[in-house]
Amino acid sequence: MAMRKKIILVFTAFATIAILYQGVLSATGLKKKWIREAMFYEKLPDGSVRCTLCPRRCIIPEGERGYCQVRFNKGGKLYTMTYGNPAAVHVDPIEKKPFFHFLPGSKALSIATAGCNLRCNFCQNWQLSHSTPEQTRNYDLPPEKVVELAKKTRSQVIAYTYSEPTIFYEYMYETAKLAHKAGIKNVMLTCGYIEPEPLKQLLKYMDAVDIDLKGFSDDVYRYVGKGRLKYVKRTAEIVRKSGVWLEVTYLVIPTLSDSEDQIRRMARWVVEELGDTTPVHFLRFHPDYKLTNLPPTPVKTLERARQIAMEEGLKYVYIGNVPGHPAENTYCPGTNKVCIRRRGFFVLENHVDSTGYCSVCKKHIPGVWK
Ligand code: SF4
Ligand SMILES: [Zn+2]
Repeated sequence: MAMRKKIILVFTAFATIAILYQGVLSATGLKKKWIREAMFYEKLPDGSVRCTLCPRRCIIPEGERGYCQVRFNKGGKLYTMTYGNPAAVHVDPIEKKPFFHFLPGSKALSIATAGCNLRCNFCQNWQLSHSTPEQTRNYDLPPEKVVELAKKTRSQVIAYTYSEPTIFYEYMYETAKLAHKAGIKNVMLTCGYIEPEPLKQLLKYMDAVDIDLKGFSDDVYRYVGKGRLKYVKRTAEIVRKSGVWLEVTYLVIPTLSDSEDQIRRMARWVVEELGDTTPVHFLRFHPDYKLTNLPPTPVKTLERARQIAMEEGLKYVYIGNVPGHPAENTYCPGTNKVCIRRRGFFVLENHVDSTGYCSVCKKHIPGVWK
C-alpha cells in the first residue's frame, strides 16, 4: 500500500482570500432572479402558507416573512430571497469550518447569504445572520458561477457556512448538484435546525456536515431563539445514518454550556448515537455581539471538556480557537503519536494516506481522505 508523508507549509498560501467578484450590488434592492419559489411549504386555505423547511414551521400570512427573514408569502406562494446572492464569499482552509477528518489542507470556497433561523446573541457572524438580504451587500453569484469560481480558485470543496445554510436551501441544493457534476465536493456547517425531508434530499449531494451545537440542553436552545435541542440531535442522527461524513462542534460558553453535566451528556449521546470515532471540536468562546459580559472560555475549561468527552469514550476530541494547543492535532489510535499536526487552521504534517491509514502503524483513521 502506497503511503505518503506530506509536510505542508501553508501560512502564506492559505491566508483567507476575499474574492472580489464582479457584480457587487449596493445594499439596496434585490434582483428578481434572486427570488425563487421555495421548495418546501404547504398552502393553507386562508391564503397563508406553512414553511416546512425547518422545525419552526412558520405559518406566514400574505405579505409577511418567516422568522428567518428571507422567506415571504406573496399570493399564497412561499418565496426565498436568497437564491444566488451571497453576502460572503471567501476561500478558506477546510480546517476553518472546522473539518479535521475531511481532506486536510484542502481549500473550500465558502459562501453564505443573509439570514438565520436561530438568534444567538453571541453570533460571530451577526452582521450576516441577523440581517435581511436587502441590508447586506450581495454578490451576483448564481450556482453555475459558484462552481466556476471554485474551479478558478482551485478549491476542491464548496462550503455552505458562516450564517445558516438551511435558510438558503434552494441555492445550496442547486449549487451542490452542479458541483458534484464538476467533481467538486460539498460541505455544510449548520446549526442542524432543518426538517428531515429537506435534509435527506440535500444529503444526496453533501460530502460532509458539521453540526454546530450551542450547548446540550433545551434551556440553551430556548435562549438562542426559542429552539429545541431534540431537532438538532435528530439532524445529526439522520446525517450519521446516511453515511455522509459528520463532525460535531460544541461552543463552550462560560455559564451557559460549560457545565460538566451538559458536556458529559453530549459526549454520551455522540458515542451512543453517532459513534465513538465522530470528531468533536470544543470551541473557545470569545465575547461578541450582545454577549460581551462573559469572559473568553478559560483554556482549562476546554481541556476539562475534552477530558470528559474522552472519559465517555470519544476517540477524536479537539480544542479550537486556541492556536498552538496540542489538542489541535490528530493522534494516531495505534501509537498515540501525532498523525496530523496543525496550528490554527493550517496543516503542518500529515501522516494519513489517501485511504485513511496511518503511514507509521497502519491503523485506520475514519474520515474522507481523497
Ligand atoms: S426556514 Fe424560515 S420561514 Fe421556514 S420555518 Fe424556518 S424560520 Fe420559518
Ligand atoms: Zn499510527
